[in-house]
Amino acid sequence: METCYILFGANMGDKNHIFAQACQLINNRCGRIVKVSEAYESEPWGFEADSWFLNRVIVLETELNPECLLVELLEIESELGRVRYADRQGYASRTADLDILYFGNRIINTETLTVPHPRLHLRRFALEPLCEVNPDFVHPILQMTQVELLQLCPDDSIVRVIKSNNDEEL
Ligand code: AMP
Repeated sequence: METCYILFGANMGDKNHIFAQACQLINNRCGRIVKVSEAYESEPWGFEADSWFLNRVIVLETELNPECLLVELLEIESELGRVRYADRQGYASRTADLDILYFGNRIINTETLTVPHPRLHLRRFALEPLCEVNPDFVHPILQMTQVELLQLCPDDSIVRVIKSNNDEEL
């Protein structure tokens, strides 16, 4: 059993609903979600987009190996992008991104998977929720806690907690 940290990101459609669905699918197929961070909204990073992102960290206990977890998350991502709204024509545009930030203390470098996520220490939208859920967790390569990484993070884009009334039951 390993504890993993997964970053959810979405900037289209009903983001809270997509998050709730992602959690349900992850719980059904990947293990047990033991914690989720607050909802953060973050300025689009590195490109122009109309809508801000919803970002949340999911803490998952899993018995899957990292490659199998990745395969499941990619399948969930693609299912969330294919959901059809009953009241509309065709498929609504909605995307979700699920990145493995940490997989226990493991260091993984394969063709398909790099863990810890190679850019997490450069992104405030990953570090803010990580600091909330486990501030003392030590990055297995950089050997710094999440709080220390956030203090050194050069990313000055806006990331803030949104208190949402319509957070669906997870
Ligand atoms: P993206 O949609 O830009 O997040 O890229 C997804 C691809 O990145 C996947 O097909 C993975 O093979 C690759 N990848 C490498 N490392 C990771 C990671 N730590 N978490 C998720 N995807 C990863």
